[in-house]
Amino acid sequence: MIFPKAIENTNSFIMKLFNIKIKAFLIVVVITAIGFAQDIDLPNVKILATGGTIAGSAASATSGSYEAGQIGIQTMINAVPGIKKLADVSGEQVANVGSQDMTVEIWLKLANRINELLASDDVDGIVVTHGTDTQEETAYFLSLVVKSDKPVVTTGSMRSSTSISAEGPLNLYNAVAIASNPEAKGKGVMVSLNDQIHAARDVSKMNTTNVNSFQSPIKGMLGGVFYGRLGFFREPNTKFGNTSKFSITGVKKLPRVDIIYAYADMAPDLIDMHVKAGAKGIVIAGVGNGNMTDAILNAAKKAYEDHGVIVVRSTRAATGWVLRDNEFKDKDYHTVASGDLNPAKARILLMLALSMGEKLNDMQELFYTY
Ligand code: GLU
Repeated sequence: MIFPKAIENTNSFIMKLFNIKIKAFLIVVVITAIGFAQDIDLPNVKILATGGTIAGSAASATSGSYEAGQIGIQTMINAVPGIKKLADVSGEQVANVGSQDMTVEIWLKLANRINELLASDDVDGIVVTHGTDTQEETAYFLSLVVKSDKPVVTTGSMRSSTSISAEGPLNLYNAVAIASNPEAKGKGVMVSLNDQIHAARDVSKMNTTNVNSFQSPIKGMLGGVFYGRLGFFREPNTKFGNTSKFSITGVKKLPRVDIIYAYADMAPDLIDMHVKAGAKGIVIAGVGNGNMTDAILNAAKKAYEDHGVIVVRSTRAATGWVLRDNEFKDKDYHTVASGDLNPAKARILLMLALSMGEKLNDMQELFYTY
């Protein structure tokens, strides 16, 4: 019976081999399925790149001079270890400029693209990479015209991508973590650099070179983020996103609004010059609580009465409110107090308000609620 035994042995050997192969196959299937399921479970975050120092490069790692907006978005994503474990990230280059060259045209393009992306169930959050010089302006503009509760986070860096201790990759990692976190929903547009999360409306660039440049001097930061782990400390308390009345649907450009910096004995014809140049609104970066010389104040009154140009009083002081009817009655000069909006942000609100046909009577309320 040697022969049948041999067949039996051969059969059981084949069966064993078959079983091992089946098991191996099943293991591969399960591992692939787990990997696939993990991919499906990851939030989808779109990174829209606009340039800035985060995409800048210098000739040497210890050089402070560099050219902003040199590195493309895919190279930036590839430079951030672990980013693909946070979210299913993909990038899109909307612009590639130093943010001193940011324009209303790019704002409109960016905001329209964000609205389009966030309307899709396939996108859970947006990160915008941006130069730091005007980042607070772009973030505030977006906060007024993006119609979604999904998180939008702007980020950048103070050091170029080739610098020693470049902080851009960690800032981008944290921004993606915020944009993919459900807790960040409904908080409006946020600005995140240096482990901090700020509300777009409240944040300002306070230092020309320091990595801790972004601060919210009046209200403090919204939250913090540490290697992707985050928490929120407060809620933003002005209107934005879905509660904002401002819309850019069909808008191709915004009315011209200029900013005039106030100083002792300032040239008395500055307002007239801006009105003649075509400004439809003017923001005064006033001294103290939005003050200016008598000559300028009277020119503001005349600009409204003769040309319908609305003048908003903000301040050149780094922080603080500009309150209505402080040293004179605003009504007597047709001026509007900016509240705690700095001049650059007051300009954005005035441009949007004018573009929607808002009149002087409603303007003060807008500055106190947006
Ligand atoms: N001027 C550059 C910009 O705003 C440098 C500032 C920066 O990104 O840090 O794009």
